[in-house]
Amino acid sequence: MNEAEYYFIDSHTHLYASQFDVDRVEVMQRCLDNNVRKLVMPNEDYLSIAPLKSMLSNYKGICYGAMGLHPTSVNDGYKHELELIGEELFNGDTGYVAVGEIGMDLYWDKTYMDFQKTVLREQFSWALQLELPVIIHSRSSESVVLDILDESEFQDVRGIFHCWSGTVDETIRAMRHENFYFGVGGTCTYKRSKSPSFFDFLDLDRVVLETDSPYLPPVPHRGQRNESSYIPLIANKLSENTGVPVATVADITNKNAEKIFGI
Ligand SMILES: [Zn+2]
Repeated sequence: MNEAEYYFIDSHTHLYASQFDVDRVEVMQRCLDNNVRKLVMPNEDYLSIAPLKSMLSNYKGICYGAMGLHPTSVNDGYKHELELIGEELFNGDTGYVAVGEIGMDLYWDKTYMDFQKTVLREQFSWALQLELPVIIHSRSSESVVLDILDESEFQDVRGIFHCWSGTVDETIRAMRHENFYFGVGGTCTYKRSKSPSFFDFLDLDRVVLETDSPYLPPVPHRGQRNESSYIPLIANKLSENTGVPVATVADITNKNAEKIFGI
């Protein structure tokens, strides 16, 4: 395969975010120029639904949406917000390819831990009802997420552990969930802080590529806004780490993403 024959998928990006309001068209053009041809955009909260939907309709066949309530947006008003998001997911006319971004985040604040758990269980149930995959965000809460996934009613939940950063033991545990894939993004290009890490266990058959734009930019863009056109930098790093040609990295991770999302 030569360069023209392969393409990339960004399985997790928020290009609808306000950080891209000034140059969204150029950002999308750079994606296409860098062969990033499919982008999956998970929702964050009720307010992000409109900008997300406008991107999906402007870039049909390139941008795909996921609908869900992000754990850092869970607060005292979660019931009403969950209702509005559920309404959009079940009754809207957008064909969402996943339930996301959902999960647990106890990094900054544990105040809403119990609400986060309730919201996660509810959204796992949605995914089962709609037979959709989930996009899981777990930060400082990997074992809590795995405990919930291990509950008997959620055995058939499938999807992606986005930006996985669990310990070795948690990673081994997460890998036992065979219908889950791992989203690998900019952090794989950062200097290792601990060893061994998740990246040592990496099996490309379980990996999808992601940027999480505008967050977590890969080297050499650290400190700047991230964007989906940087996906090849992540593929190159994986190629370097695994010794697998970049075209093959693209091919394997594309097949994984296409299979999960049906895109
Ligand atoms: Zn995200």
